[in-house]
Formats: sequence, C-alpha cells, structure tokens
Amino acid sequence: MTSDAGMTRLAILCLYLCTAGPAAADFIRSNLRFTLYHELGHAVIDQLSLPVFGTEETAADSFGIVLADRLHPEEEMQVILTDMTALSRAEAVERIFDPWDQYMPDAQRLARAICLAYGLNPAERLPLARALGMPASAADACVEDATQVRAAWAPVMERLRPKPGATLTESLRPGRHGKALRLLGQDIERVNEAIVLPRPVPVTNVACGEDNAYYFHIDERIEFCSEMVEALSARGLR
Ligand SMILES: [Zn+2]
Repeated sequence: MTSDAGMTRLAILCLYLCTAGPAAADFIRSNLRFTLYHELGHAVIDQLSLPVFGTEETAADSFGIVLADRLHPEEEMQVILTDMTALSRAEAVERIFDPWDQYMPDAQRLARAICLAYGLNPAERLPLARALGMPASAADACVEDATQVRAAWAPVMERLRPKPGATLTESLRPGRHGKALRLLGQDIERVNEAIVLPRPVPVTNVACGEDNAYYFHIDERIEFCSEMVEALSARGLR
C-alpha cells in the first residue's frame, strides 16, 4: 500500500502534471495565436495596399487584437491576453531599450494591447484588464481608442469577409512540418473560414536561428521560426 507521505508526493506530482501541462500548452498556443494574427496583419496591409498611420508594427498589433476579438469566445480571448502578458513581462526585463526599434518597448506594446482588448469589450473585460495592470484612470481613453481602431479596421474586415455562396479558398496555406503549425492547425482553419485574402499566403515553420516570426513582403508568406516554440516551452510560464 502507498504510505501517506507517498500519497502526498503523488498528489503533488499530479497537481503539477495536471495543471502545469495544460497551462504551459495554453501559454505556447496563446502566444503563437497572437503572433499568427500579427503576421496576418502585415499580409493584409501588404495585399490590400492599406495606408498606415503610424508604424506598420503598431497597425499589425491592432489588427491582431481586433481579429482575435472577432474569432475567439470570451473565455479563450482572456486566456490569450493573460498569456501574452506573461510572455511580454518576461521579455521586457531582458530587452535593452532601443528608441529606434520598430516596436514600442515591450511594456508599452503590451499596455496598448490590453487597453485595446479592454476597449473592444469593456462590459466583460474590466476585471481582467485591471488584473493585468490597466489603471482605472485609463479605462475611458481605452474605450475611445478601441472605438476608433475598430472603426478603422471595419471596412478592411468587410473586404476580407467571404462572399456568400462563393467557394471558400484557403487563404493561409500551412506547410506540413513543424510544431507551431501543428499547434495552430485549428486556428488557421478558423482564420480561413473567417477571411479571404486576395492571394494565398503560405505559412511555414523552419529553423531560422532566432526566436521570431516574419511576414515576407517579397514573396507574401509567413514564417514561424522553430526556435519560437522551443523558447516558449523553455519559459514554462503560467
Ligand atoms: Zn510585425
């Protein structure tokens, strides 16, 4: 028979395996999801030749949040935001501030994402936004900003909407190999049901020597570096 101490150790092990496993998987998938939507934002801006006010990186971030808000049920959206926050906070302490970077500093980029996500659904996201660091004094401005951002993307989303009766084409065309693509399989399918790009965009997962992902304007494709899943796994956050 198992001793009490043994049972306690088993219970602790089970607690670890039963909670850390799914949470870690959520953490990886959530951050891959937002990366996919951000890179898709670059593809949309490129293929529709959209004028961009501000940096393209900021526009791709806002597209990513607006799209995630449309695609995901509230519970999933809150998990994505929580996991994005955990990653961004971890990266922020490692990054050296560079005023010439195309991205806002991590902490500010994250704050804008939380602010926008909150403003898109203030009725349901206030407790989460506050828990993720949004000050109460920022709430009204976030709602105003989100209203403007949603209005800016609305005609673009309308152009991307599948035409009634038309045969669905696969806008995102995932490669066969790579963990990121396996983890994102259902999300890519969901994107393909929700939007139609003017031209298909291959999505590949290859080793590229860094923890990153790209949209390449030159040949209109999205590339996930395999190092990204490895780096997310290694962080083991949440
Ligand atoms: Zn980007």
